[in-house]
Amino acid sequence: MKVITAEHAGFCFGVQRAVEEAEKCAENAGSEVFTYGPLIHNESVIHDLEEKGIFAVETDLEEAFLSENPATEGRTRQKRPNTIIIRAHGVGRETEKRLKERYEHVVDATCPFVKKIHKIVAEHSAAGEQIVITGSPSHPEVIGIRGWVQGDSYVISNEQEANALDLDASRKVCIVSQTTFHFNKFKDLVEIVKQKVYDICAFNTICNATEERQREAAQLAQEVDAMLVLGGENSSNSKKLFEICSQACENTYFLQTSDDLDRSTLLSFDSIGITAGASTPHYIIEEVQKKCQK
Ligand code: SF4
Repeated sequence: MKVITAEHAGFCFGVQRAVEEAEKCAENAGSEVFTYGPLIHNESVIHDLEEKGIFAVETDLEEAFLSENPATEGRTRQKRPNTIIIRAHGVGRETEKRLKERYEHVVDATCPFVKKIHKIVAEHSAAGEQIVITGSPSHPEVIGIRGWVQGDSYVISNEQEANALDLDASRKVCIVSQTTFHFNKFKDLVEIVKQKVYDICAFNTICNATEERQREAAQLAQEVDAMLVLGGENSSNSKKLFEICSQACENTYFLQTSDDLDRSTLLSFDSIGITAGASTPHYIIEEVQKKCQK
C-alpha cells in the first residue's frame, strides 16, 4: 500500500507559535496560566497542555464575568495574579481591554495574519466604510475581527447570504475574509457584492497555510484511492479539507487520532493520501502514517 502525505500538513505557523508561547509561559510563570478559550481545536494537544499546567477558560463565562463586573470608574480592577494567553484566533478590542483589566499578564499569541485583518477593518471602518467578512459568524476569529470594526459589519458565508446583503450603495465597502475560508468561494462572493456596490476594496486575507493545504489536498485526493483527513472535531480548517477532498475522492475519511483508523477499511486500496488541518500536531500524522504502513 502506497501512503503519501501532503507536503504541508499539520501545525501552521500561527498555531505552532501560540503553542510555543503557551509552553514558554508555563515554564516561566510563577502563577497559573490560562488560555482564553481552547488554544487550538485539537483534543490531544489540549490534553498535553493541561499536563503542563495550561488550562483553557470558557470564553462565554469569562465574557459574562467581564461585562457584569466592569472596572469601577477611576479605580482599576483588582487583577488576578495569573497569566492569560490570547490564542491565534485573536479577540476583539473590547475583550482585549477587559482581559488587561482582569489579569496581571496578558500574552497576545494572535497570529500575525489575523492581526493584519484587525488592522484593515479598524482603519477602513474608521474611514466610514461598510465591512463585509466572508466566513462563519460564530467562529471566534470572525467574532474577534468584528470586535475591531467601528460601526456595522456583515458576515456572509454563501451566495444566498451575499445576494441578501442590504448594503448602502453610496458608501464604500471593504471585504475581508476569515483566514480559513475557501479561496474560490471568496472570489465568487466578492463578485456578487461588486454588483451591489460600485466602490469596493477586497482584501484576500485567506492565509497561505490554508491555501497551500487546500490546493495540495485537492491535488492529492485526485491521485489516490482513499484520503485521510486528520483534525480536531471542532477545527473548521480541517473540516474544509475534508469537504475539498470528498469532492475529489469518494473514499475520504475524517480522523481525530490514529485510534479512529480502521485498517480493515483501507485494505482494499492501493494508495492512500494523508493531509491534516493546521491544528493537528505532527506526532498524530506520524502515528497514522505508521499505522497505514504496518
Ligand atoms: S491558519 Fe494561517 S492565519 Fe490561522 S493561525 Fe495558522 S498561520 Fe495563522
